[in-house]
Amino acid sequence: MKTLQHTPPFTITDAAAAIVRAPLATPFRIATGQHDELANVFLRLTTRDGIRGFGEAAVATHITGETVASTLANLRAAAADLSGRTIDDVEALCREFAPRFAGNHAGLAALEMALLDLAARVDGVPLYGLFPPVTAAGPRLRFATDITIVIGTLEEARRGAERFTAQGFTAFKVKVGRNEELDLARVLAVREAAPGCTLILDANMGFDAGRMLAFLERLDRHGARPVLLEQPVPKHDWAGLATLTAALSGSGTLVCADESVGSLADARLAVETGAVSAINVKTMKSGFLEGAEIARLAASHGIPLMLGAMMESALSISASAHLAAGLGCFDYIDLDTTFFLGGEFSRAPGLDGAGRFDLGSAVPGIGVEPAFP
Ligand SMILES: [Mg+2]
Repeated sequence: MKTLQHTPPFTITDAAAAIVRAPLATPFRIATGQHDELANVFLRLTTRDGIRGFGEAAVATHITGETVASTLANLRAAAADLSGRTIDDVEALCREFAPRFAGNHAGLAALEMALLDLAARVDGVPLYGLFPPVTAAGPRLRFATDITIVIGTLEEARRGAERFTAQGFTAFKVKVGRNEELDLARVLAVREAAPGCTLILDANMGFDAGRMLAFLERLDRHGARPVLLEQPVPKHDWAGLATLTAALSGSGTLVCADESVGSLADARLAVETGAVSAINVKTMKSGFLEGAEIARLAASHGIPLMLGAMMESALSISASAHLAAGLGCFDYIDLDTTFFLGGEFSRAPGLDGAGRFDLGSAVPGIGVEPAFP
């Protein structure tokens, strides 16, 4: 985080949290559950002179156990205590409020998002300007997201891959882990519809190490090799992750922790044990400040990074795109959930229909002003 000193400091005079619901254009099915609607908690902070900052909590109860109700209650309580607060050091304020969100990391992400959005707007800089680059290469303002092929029928996988290929996507993340025979056919169908595409698999904990290796061998026989395998086994199965990482070392397939790494402490364990060869960072798992620390830790050990998302609207996806741009250290971008939404929630500035982000002309802050109930 860059320390932003505001002279004179600015004061938050209004803070409000509310639930926003919207139907998904396409249901989002994974091995452990499914989303049929967006039901997220939004936070709006307003300063005395009318500058606003927005945050969003994407609550994935089937993954994290958090609930919309508890997130709303936490954010409402924080909002009440933020009113009247003067901000001269936004990072200090984020850290002051973080302990209230133990076990509610989506709530923490929303709080940090709104405070950082507000601070960046007050300073007149795009959000990415608050995150110093991890490497000498500097910020990275242009990159492309993969697109997810959700759990479903063979025909749905084929049609999805055809549609997204026509839109210009070149990296496909196929959700697997429910039905191995069907999964195999789905992955091969995606590859047939999108020849030459970059292939990522996300099992969402649906395999054990032995079954996962056997599945990859079957794919290999068809010449289909994923560049990255996300969370093949249950989150606490570090031995299974280590077995897979050792077995796939040098194979061209990275073993990426997602559910297993939600915090900096988890990331330290992953780095120290060498149990995985890549780490997926999500703001909804760890917030922005800790997410950036995880990225710095992994990058300093040469571990490739993915930046992912829960079911997040254009606001939150854009905020994560700024995090990726500022830090500049993410090899795999998985910020595609706006493509499963309709209306204003699907419109992220600087993101085109082929999943390419370009933050070269980003406005101050996150650059998204969601309609607020
Ligand atoms: Mg995942």
